[in-house]
Amino acid sequence: MIAGVPTGDEVATFCPLCVSRCGARASVSNGTFTLSRDPSHPTGKALCVKGKAAPEISAHPDRLHHPLQRANSKGVSDPGWQRIG
Ligand code: SF4
Repeated sequence: MIAGVPTGDEVATFCPLCVSRCGARASVSNGTFTLSRDPSHPTGKALCVKGKAAPEISAHPDRLHHPLQRANSKGVSDPGWQRIG
C-alpha cells in the first residue's frame, strides 16, 4: 500500500536505498509493490540491482517493522530483543 494512492495507480517517487535517490515509479497491484525506472526523471534512466530488489526487501518476512532494544548484556548468547516505541 502506498498512502493516499489508489491500488493500481503509479506515482513518481525515488529509490531510497542509497544516496543516489534514483527517480522511479511505484505502484501497488493485487497487494504487490513494484518499483520501476522513470526515464522522465534526470536520475531515473535505470535502477541498479539493489533498487530492483526494493519490493523484495520491503516484503521480506524477516524485515524489522519496529525498533528493538537489547535487554541482555553484550556477550550473552541471547540478546533478548524487546520491542520499543
Ligand atoms: S536504484 Fe540503486 S543506485 Fe539508484 S538509489 Fe536505488 S540503490 Fe541507489
